[in-house]
Amino acid sequence: MNYYSLNRQSPSVTFEEATIRGQAPDKGLYFPERIPTLSHNFIKNISRHTKEEIGVEVMKPYVAGSLDDNELERIVSETVSFDFPLVKINDNIYSLELFHGPTLAFKDVGARFMSRCLGFFNRNKDQKTTVLVATSGDTGGAVANGFLGVEGVDVVILYPSGKVSTVQELQLTTCGQNITALEINGTFDDCQAMVKQAFADKDLNNTLILTSANSINVARWLPQQLYYFFALQQWHDNGLPVICVPSGNFGNICAGILAHISGLPVQHFIAACNANDVVPQFLQTGNYQPKPSVATISNAMDVGNPSNFIRILELFQHQLPQLKEKVSSVTVSDEETKRILSDVYKKYQYTLDPHGAVAYKALNEYLQEHNDWYGILLETAHPVKFPDVVEAVTGSPVAVPESAAHLLKLEKKSIRMNADFNDLKEWLLNK
Ligand SMILES: *Cc1c(COP(=O)(O)O)cnc(C)c1O
Repeated sequence: MNYYSLNRQSPSVTFEEATIRGQAPDKGLYFPERIPTLSHNFIKNISRHTKEEIGVEVMKPYVAGSLDDNELERIVSETVSFDFPLVKINDNIYSLELFHGPTLAFKDVGARFMSRCLGFFNRNKDQKTTVLVATSGDTGGAVANGFLGVEGVDVVILYPSGKVSTVQELQLTTCGQNITALEINGTFDDCQAMVKQAFADKDLNNTLILTSANSINVARWLPQQLYYFFALQQWHDNGLPVICVPSGNFGNICAGILAHISGLPVQHFIAACNANDVVPQFLQTGNYQPKPSVATISNAMDVGNPSNFIRILELFQHQLPQLKEKVSSVTVSDEETKRILSDVYKKYQYTLDPHGAVAYKALNEYLQEHNDWYGILLETAHPVKFPDVVEAVTGSPVAVPESAAHLLKLEKKSIRMNADFNDLKEWLLNK
């Protein structure tokens, strides 16, 4: 499979090259040259397949030419080595829990798949690759954990000081080995701007092999399709599901739509957003207007210009009517998010995290208007990652899973830095 740049000014590349580059030289996102079609039999018998078999079947065409069957099987089985349970919340709504991985958020799958691909592609190279990534919270932990101990790769994570939760901070500052955390005196937007500047800097690119690990990377984006197949695998005859995805950079939902176009039966998609409402506004007005992000209690979705939305447009050949028929998008305020978290806890004894609560609200509203349909929300993070909000709202402590309990005993190690690109550059050149 080859990948073209959505800006169409750079040549097409293999999966390997798209993974190593992250972004095309013309700054476009890479996009698969064709969308594979899964066999009817595979979909019909999906509940008889293992997670590993599904992973290989779905990913195989995308990596063809870059990974052989054995390598793909190994990478897939290391990637999906935990549970993805579909849990019933009430008669109409199910939660696909994507937080059973090592860093308790859905980003583990993409980060694990990408890190193993990059490790494999790097196996015979002398020079190390430096993965540079900015995080608002969950990306950093998933990338740190995914790349920990991967040979030939150093990871540098920039995060905004004081703006991530305790568990999130410990996940990205306690790995050691090939992982370094830079604690920036600034906001997430500052961190992202510094990283962007680094990728554009001549001196840095002459000295280091820099790559990103954010969701624009095809090796992080594409394996997220698997969640939707795992959901279908556990879905029993309630008609086609409506699937609601808490969305920030729109990588996850875009992968779901891609899975659907390949043959996965889905009634409708809902992209649930917090106050960062660029996409809901666009679907209403046809006018795409990026704006600075605003801080909310579902902070992993605080994105003012979702980078993967352009891929969704490409999937629908930029036809707004077709897009609107299959995908809706709504915005949910922090007040509503807290109210829903509390309601669902009281009524159904189910503890959502703030991101899942945004999705619940959007899905529940949609199902009131389509009352013979059933829905699945993607629960993208464990509530323990956001204890302040969750415990204040439910009034009870969140049970701490083993992986987080272990973290709380470790000591944070970070390097403090001002939000100044020159400081970052000097540090990278001398590292
Ligand atoms: C990253 C993240 C999101 C947003 O996912 P996108 O693919 O960027 O839309 C939602 N919820 C949580 C918990 C996240 O970490």
